[in-house]
Amino acid sequence: MKDVVKYYGDYPALRGVTLEVPKGAFQCIIGPSGSGKSTLLHIIGGVDKPTSGEVTVAGVRLNDLGDDELAEFRNRNVGFVFQMFYLIPRMSILENVELPLILRRVPREERRRAALEALRLVGLGHIDPRKRPTQLSGGEQQRVAIARAIVARPRILLADEPTGNLDSATAKVVMDTFLELKKTLGITIVMVTHNLELLPYCDAYAKMRDGKIVEISSKQQPT
Ligand code: ADP
Ligand code: ADP
Repeated sequence: MKDVVKYYGDYPALRGVTLEVPKGAFQCIIGPSGSGKSTLLHIIGGVDKPTSGEVTVAGVRLNDLGDDELAEFRNRNVGFVFQMFYLIPRMSILENVELPLILRRVPREERRRAALEALRLVGLGHIDPRKRPTQLSGGEQQRVAIARAIVARPRILLADEPTGNLDSATAKVVMDTFLELKKTLGITIVMVTHNLELLPYCDAYAKMRDGKIVEISSKQQPT
């Protein structure tokens, strides 16, 4: 993205952000609450449109897209993970992971196969997929949510505080899951986090403050 500005009304949430994330990289975004991190993710994911500036994601120039095309872009290219897992409690784990494929009208057998594969990829291949989400630990539930985010094989995974509800040991299991997905799928990951302990897992981080990137680095701890 280049020179991206985002206003909510007359409030500038982003005040000129330029960021390049290489394909297949794991990019972290840090910075205080309200500094524009979620807004940045929303713009990369095509959920929000910039007020000005250019955004190209997975080879697609998002500025050129209308609302329907933007929705299509999201469906095809982007998976989302949040701090809350947003799993549907009355559905089995398998059904939760299948959901994006149900919405895409993928046939039942293919759906099932893809969901089981996604669960295997996040390290939950040993868990009975007929269980309900509440029968799993928090870390396992987040990995189910990650399986759901990747089941349609997006090129980009956007994670907003994915470990915010997890203890630090479990957070590291989730980071290992991201590294595994990076390796096996070549997926690009952009993660917002408050947890500086997780930065060693990232290839690079950008630190935001007041709607701007104030520090950018590769493989270094922030000062
Ligand atoms: P962070 O993720 O770093 O906490 P956000 O990107 O969520 O920051 O928000 C940046 C600023 O923009 C905050 O002041 C927030 O209140 C404001 N903001 C975010 N989304 C909206 C919105 N939809 N409408 C109005 N203001 C918003
Ligand atoms: P975080 O700080 O964890 O990033 P926030 O609580 O700032 O999350 O924002 C949660 C959601 O509410 C986001 O989708 C954001 O865009 C929206 N939001 C944040 N601030 C405002 C606001 N002032 N007006 C409207 N929506 C907002």
